[in-house]
Amino acid sequence: MGESELDIPLEFDSMKSLDLYFGTGTAIVMDDKTCPVAMSRNLQMFYSRESCGWCTPCREGIPWIYELLNSIETGEGRPGDIDLIIDQAKYIGPGTYCAFAMGAVQPLESAIDKFREDFEEHIRLRRCPYTRGNILKS
Ligand code: SF4
Repeated sequence: MGESELDIPLEFDSMKSLDLYFGTGTAIVMDDKTCPVAMSRNLQMFYSRESCGWCTPCREGIPWIYELLNSIETGEGRPGDIDLIIDQAKYIGPGTYCAFAMGAVQPLESAIDKFREDFEEHIRLRRCPYTRGNILKS
């Protein structure tokens, strides 16, 4: 969710109108100095550690996406990685036993949708632009 979408009532219909879900009812608020790639990577690290391992897409897919995000964040991302993540992420949630895997994919897809420019900048510069005081969208 971006700045323009912040002023909405915290109730189901309003959230759904923005294609958002309450999930666990947790909100993470980031300012413009927070790297969305690092945030996404950390979130996927959490999900990969918390997966119970029962379903293959969740057990194998989320750590794989974490590794790709880590590559992008540390300057080793390659052109095409973003589209690869988007393409593969859609296979992680469906068919899994619980909502956990889908819950991992939704914030990732949202981050790429809202902050794709930041993901691309990491790959182009071969480093995180947020770590050296060169903040995008300042
Ligand atoms: S989707 Fe749920 S049941 Fe399946 S591996 Fe992930 S946490 Fe376990």
